[in-house]
Amino acid sequence: MPRISLSTLLKCLVAVAVIALTAYISTLTLNPQGKVEETTGVGWVEEVRILIVYDNTLFNRSLKASWGFACVVELDNESILFDTGGDPETLLSNMAKMGVDTSKITRVVLSHIHGDHTGGLFGFLELRGGVTIYVPSSFPRSFKDLAESYGCEVVEISGPTVIREGVASTGEMGTWIKEQALIVNTSRGAIVITGCAHPGVVNMVERAKEIAGDVYMVLGGFHLAGASRSEVVKIAQQLDELGVKLVAPCHCTGENAKAVFRELYGERFVEIGVGAVLEVKP
Ligand SMILES: [Zn+2]
Ligand SMILES: [Zn+2]
Repeated sequence: MPRISLSTLLKCLVAVAVIALTAYISTLTLNPQGKVEETTGVGWVEEVRILIVYDNTLFNRSLKASWGFACVVELDNESILFDTGGDPETLLSNMAKMGVDTSKITRVVLSHIHGDHTGGLFGFLELRGGVTIYVPSSFPRSFKDLAESYGCEVVEISGPTVIREGVASTGEMGTWIKEQALIVNTSRGAIVITGCAHPGVVNMVERAKEIAGDVYMVLGGFHLAGASRSEVVKIAQQLDELGVKLVAPCHCTGENAKAVFRELYGERFVEIGVGAVLEVKP
């Protein structure tokens, strides 16, 4: 039997390890920023800025708070208005004070039919007709007809739908109050934006995860105003188990529920309200 020195054996072992490691690394696809490329069909957006333009909690004192929710999602070359709050005057004045360029808004996504999410739409369309509007397919025909009379294309959402590169809808969910959430997929994971989360915030995040993979942040109304502390604790834990990194509850979440999330999530709780701006950069 030929004799192999210890140093030769060690060299062989190192060589094998290097080859194995190289093979492992090359199975991952890296984007130019060195992050692992997402593998779903949604794609991803490089940068996003989310401006809360309508909420019942004040974040910036120069703006007006009113019951409802709306935010502007600024992407590379266009913006998306998600929900429209309860009235157009508050919506438009807050957007102007926050420096929103309404000419860049090409799409409006409505979470659900309630007036505190759709009330600002037609006043907005007076200013900016001809946009594409994404509504749950259960919306009444009369609503869709009225939107079309402003030169808008109305897209009825049933199942999960990719809206554009990096942006998707969970699809219409729930049995009683039908609702869709918006998914914005970034290099850090998906941002899930809910209106009121009537179908259950955990259900909506589970659906978003099936569509876009890892969820980075959940933002919007969690609809927990009437929930007990133990119910909220359970929901907070379920979102954590789903891998949610940051929570930014607002609108109909309820002050008590917000306090529980603040306590349990610590630095992972993002304080928002009308006037807040969230930014994700690569
Ligand atoms: Zn609602
Ligand atoms: Zn609401």
